[in-house]
Amino acid sequence: MIAAPGGGKGTQGERLAAQFGIEHISSGDVLRAEVAAGTSLGGQVAGYQRRGDLVPDQIVFDLLLPVVAAATARGGYILDGFPRTVPQALRAADLARQFDLILDAAVYLEVTEPVLVQRLLARARPDDTAAVIEHRLHVFAETTSPLIAYYRDRGILVEVDGDQPPDAITADIQARLPLTGAIG
Ligand code: ADP
Repeated sequence: MIAAPGGGKGTQGERLAAQFGIEHISSGDVLRAEVAAGTSLGGQVAGYQRRGDLVPDQIVFDLLLPVVAAATARGGYILDGFPRTVPQALRAADLARQFDLILDAAVYLEVTEPVLVQRLLARARPDDTAAVIEHRLHVFAETTSPLIAYYRDRGILVEVDGDQPPDAITADIQARLPLTGAIG
């Protein structure tokens, strides 16, 4: 799932995972769990998250790849929030190859900025203040949005209008996923 902050990756990711009977892995949740565990690595992660900066790739790999590998061994996953940089996408592809897993689709939820800001301010997470939101949107545009072209070039991009109500977005994704026939 690719979307700007507030783009609905979590909501849609959970629904898709439930439909396919596979795991939903939210990188933000995995990183926040490390913060909550109070480790020294968690302390570093907290600083990046509070500022709305991306956590450095190596820390993300250390914390997330074991979780992804475990889900892979159990049959697959919906990744939400990872990969978020091109190096992360290359690493995710390597890991999939290692397990003979095919990356079926990269779903991009396209959401306009006023809608994103409205949703984030309504959510009220500690990194959902106006200034940090603006920074996160900038980081998305600069560092994460190149993944849209990356996956389009690989022929697996599914672009969906994410400004719609949640059920309409889910229906659009289902209609356009290459595996739609396999959904319960
Ligand atoms: P949102 O998409 O609304 O920003 P997330 O929970 O996905 O919410 O991410 C929150 C924060 O966690 C990000 O601002 C960043 O600091 C960190 N983060 C999450 N995923 C990644 C990732 N793949 N790479 C680097 N940092 C990440």
